[in-house]
Amino acid sequence: MHKQFNPGLLVREGLKELVPYAEVTYPEVVRLNANENPYDFPGEVRQAINEMLNPQSFTRYPDAMARQLVRELARLHGVGAGHIMVGNGSDELILDLMLTFGAGNRVVIAVPTFSMYGIHARVAGAEIVEIPRRLDFDLDVPEIIRAGRKAALVVLCSPNNPTGNSATLEQVQSLLDNCPCPVVVDQAYVEFGGPDFLPLLNKYPNLVLLRTFSKAYGLAGLRVGYLFACPQVLNYLFKVKQPFNLNTFSQLAALTVLQHRDIFAGQVSEIIRQRDDLYNAMQQMPDVEALPSEANYLMFKTAYPAKDVFSGLLAGGVLVRSFGDPLLAQYLRVSVGRPEENMIFLRSLRQVITVLGEKD
Ligand SMILES: *Cc1c(COP(=O)(O)O)cnc(C)c1O
Repeated sequence: MHKQFNPGLLVREGLKELVPYAEVTYPEVVRLNANENPYDFPGEVRQAINEMLNPQSFTRYPDAMARQLVRELARLHGVGAGHIMVGNGSDELILDLMLTFGAGNRVVIAVPTFSMYGIHARVAGAEIVEIPRRLDFDLDVPEIIRAGRKAALVVLCSPNNPTGNSATLEQVQSLLDNCPCPVVVDQAYVEFGGPDFLPLLNKYPNLVLLRTFSKAYGLAGLRVGYLFACPQVLNYLFKVKQPFNLNTFSQLAALTVLQHRDIFAGQVSEIIRQRDDLYNAMQQMPDVEALPSEANYLMFKTAYPAKDVFSGLLAGGVLVRSFGDPLLAQYLRVSVGRPEENMIFLRSLRQVITVLGEKD
């Protein structure tokens, strides 16, 4: 044993500040905290995945380039296969972007937003420049451009997690025209609403789009994300990517999901209907204000401290998302669930608000 061994002396300050991502699990609750597809995975799709497996599917290394999956994604989106990379969830692709462009450079992030951009930027040793959104959570385009001129990467999310609003075509074009670096637009929720920026891909070599199978396509547990970019950008990302990042089972599952995408499209339509009903029901509740959303979740605040509403809901058996970010201290986010789950949420929220109101 080395007496003077102290790993903390060897680790960067930026890394020491990070808190390991540890999820607290609550059994027996309605989980409306992670924006997953709330339905059971369709049995016929599971069966079809099973049938694609062969005796060597598990014994051999996966296809490092996920060729079949990439080809199918290219065909469905009408882009060349040379514009696509797949990852172990879009989380991995975010890390690859940060390692490729962010390391030792400046990364501009429009906040409040998905926490993984900041976490992976820090892991990659990037300097983070946060540009706050406006009061209504719209992008501050001039400020992003100003910072983006001296940055190696600009990152925004549309529809934005957790605020639910989207960027416009004009805003994204303006960022692409004025920032001499890759502009990443995370479109994890694009199936649920807001503009799809894919048509800009051919015109702008600095556009990078992130997509995922974790939300609309019900594969959060299998970790499949993908990215659209021009071949010159992908060339650098491929230097950084883990060779066998996407396992064989997940590649087959994603491919099979694409072959059954009508089933998921039906679920998405139902979730959108449920989202709009949920929004209307919440707007009618006294002391509750929900923000309009183009995604599969709603951000809301109440007249009471968010932590009290969070624990009240949890006591009523419903888990929602709360935020450490000071920009979001008053807010909570609820994912749109199955109809019966949304009813339980609304009933619990009504009850929590009533109880907190009586205490006042
Ligand atoms: C959920 C989510 C993702 C998806 O991450 P995966 O790693 O693909 O599961 C990406 N971006 C945002 C903004 C998300 O909310």
